[in-house]
Amino acid sequence: MSNSFAQETDFVCPACEHRFHAGVWLIVDAAERPDLVAQAVGGRLHTLTCPRCHQTGAVDAPLLLYRPGQEPLLLFSPRRVVTTHKMRRTPATCWAC
Ligand SMILES: [Zn+2]
Repeated sequence: MSNSFAQETDFVCPACEHRFHAGVWLIVDAAERPDLVAQAVGGRLHTLTCPRCHQTGAVDAPLLLYRPGQEPLLLFSPRRVVTTHKMRRTPATCWAC
């Protein structure tokens, strides 16, 4: 059984208002999904691309990294706190609200 977990969520593209469904990774087992760890390190794990207009945007989501056999065993990245003002000013970067 997989330890890694992606939450299926509906999103609305801030550029073209297209509604689409995508999985957002919340738990990543580093041993079973090194590809996802590489995306997280590169800052791309929580970036979505609109299937219609190909606009990309970051999702504000937490991430728990499980690293069996390594210290520390767990690494947690909390959801960033984004103010309403910032969301209004840069709507293309926020897919979570
Ligand atoms: Zn779009």
